Amino acid sequence: MVTPCDVPVGVITGDDVTKLLQHAKDNGYAIPAFNCTTSSTCNSVLEAAAKCNSPVIIQASNGGGQFFVGKSIKDKDACAVGSVAMAMHVRTVAPFYGVPVILHSDHCAKKLLPWFDGMLEADEAYYAQYGEPLFSSHMLDLSEEPDEENIAICVEYFKRMAPMKIWLEMEIGITGGEEDGVNNEDVDPEKLYTSPEQVYSVYEALSPIGNMFSIAAAFGNVHGVYKPGNVSLQPARLQTHQEFTKEKISASEDKPIFLVMHGGSGSTDEEIATAVKAGVVKMNVDTDTQWAYWDGTRKFVAENSDYLQGQIGNPKGPDAPNKKYYDPRVWIRKAEESMGERCGVSMDKLGSKGTFPPKKPESGTTPIYNFKPIAHNPLKDAVEGVSKMVASAMGK
Ligand SMILES: [Zn+2]
Repeated sequence: MVTPCDVPVGVITGDDVTKLLQHAKDNGYAIPAFNCTTSSTCNSVLEAAAKCNSPVIIQASNGGGQFFVGKSIKDKDACAVGSVAMAMHVRTVAPFYGVPVILHSDHCAKKLLPWFDGMLEADEAYYAQYGEPLFSSHMLDLSEEPDEENIAICVEYFKRMAPMKIWLEMEIGITGGEEDGVNNEDVDPEKLYTSPEQVYSVYEALSPIGNMFSIAAAFGNVHGVYKPGNVSLQPARLQTHQEFTKEKISASEDKPIFLVMHGGSGSTDEEIATAVKAGVVKMNVDTDTQWAYWDGTRKFVAENSDYLQGQIGNPKGPDAPNKKYYDPRVWIRKAEESMGERCGVSMDKLGSKGTFPPKKPESGTTPIYNFKPIAHNPLKDAVEGVSKMVASAMGK
């Protein structure tokens, strides 16, 4: 068994993120990153991580943030606010599950940069108060733009993130398929394979600023589950990226680059294993857990159909109540259990299962609000100011 990584439980940031991802790379496993859209999906993921003794990554997409704040909110900042709300939820509950959690945001294309700016603003505000960013990590995906522009924008943002020690994931080359409203189904097939030179050019631009970055290089991966098509997955290409950069920088480490795998749904176990061996430390999982969540509900409805047709009346009698079946805590729980099981499958395939025995806190020992004490408390200052005024008015 792998010696567990020495990082705290709950949401981790800064050097702890680097330590955990390096631990994954050194020990040949990857951490699954699950897209979440509700507190319920976040909790399924956390429960699965605790059950499987695994660190985990929870990520908000732009659309996930919109859903978290509520679909009816059309404010221009809605997606950022929803992502912040999800982050606050995860931060508050994660310590109770006893495993380390990386809080991340998914693909951000050029047109979505205001969302990114909003989250960074929250990171900066959180940092000012608590000495760490709100999120552990963010992804920028300018892969649709020319490489120079893609890299230049990443450099600018990375400079802003580095002082707060926020991890940056970037994409070069294109992940095919459709995700979160971005459709790459008709993209030039050549762009679906990133070259070693492209990967190195990212390394060259970002490494002078800091080492907290990872690259989602395309190797024929596709978002979503499709019938086997004309693009073939070639994870062996990732090894060439490592070799090329290692040679360029005369690194002592065989895998100098942190790689990320997108579009892993529907990949074979062997393809995943090859990718992890080549230095993939994070793999995104969305489509398969979406299906699993629904499948839990589907099975419950199929098995209990006679109890779900009205508030009253089932095979036990015309007046028998059905509340125990339609209560959301019953059928949503089935969805959570099913999704959690599927999360466990990813942890198993990626080798993160069993790498972190949960440090479950003793009951009552975790703060109900998981915030560090703040250096400067405006509320306390105001209260003290008022008492001083009162005291002086009373001539004391
Ligand atoms: Zn992706």
